Amino acid sequence: MHGIKKQWEEIQTAIAAACARSGRDPKEVNVVAVTKYSDLDTTRQVLDLGLMEIGESRAQEAVPKYKALGDRGTWHFIGHLQRNKVKDVVGRFTYIHSLDRFSLAQEINRRAELAGCTMRCFLQVNVAGEATKFGLAPEEVANFAQEVAQFPHIHLEGLMTMAPRVENSEETRPIFRELSRLRQEIQKEKGLTLPHLSMGMSRDYVIAVEEGATWLRLGSVLVGGR
Ligand SMILES: *Cc1c(COP(=O)(O)O)cnc(C)c1O
Repeated sequence: MHGIKKQWEEIQTAIAAACARSGRDPKEVNVVAVTKYSDLDTTRQVLDLGLMEIGESRAQEAVPKYKALGDRGTWHFIGHLQRNKVKDVVGRFTYIHSLDRFSLAQEINRRAELAGCTMRCFLQVNVAGEATKFGLAPEEVANFAQEVAQFPHIHLEGLMTMAPRVENSEETRPIFRELSRLRQEIQKEKGLTLPHLSMGMSRDYVIAVEEGATWLRLGSVLVGGR
């Protein structure tokens, strides 16, 4: 408990410092506490600390946790989502950070319509073009955003990326900067509103804040690794 509390205090201090350096208001920076490494008890401790935005990346593990604790927080699905798992996520989770293909958008919209809800979605972008990562190529995102904006049961929140794993986190800066630039370009060209940037994980969140992140997804730095 104290471990997580202390980590959370240090994270808040680091976010405040990064905001001061970049002239941002810390209130613009939201944190998803990623509990995919955590058991039920640890997830409960995270909620007890007042961290109400909970991130999970695998439906099989997330659903039992949601069933136990779902009424306490707001749930974010952050991992790669298979179409046959959409029914488990829609109606439970509020956000999906990993929308990256049209067939997935169709299924999310269909299931959300059946559930009578609207899903808040981020478009995942593979900025670095890594073969091992999911996500749209940067040049596909504008047209994809325009298509997704037509779905009545999907609300476009913005763009999401995962930066490559590097020795020096400073090397991630161009990735985050490019996602931010892409967001502005799409808003201008397509007349869409994309208010948010979901970027920054344990290793690189300070850089992401400096580059405009509005949602950080923090796992190991908060609750320890697996
Ligand atoms: C696991 C995961 C995170 C959190 O990772 P940490 O490095 O532990 O902070 C963030 N985003 C996604 C998509 C993840 O799968």
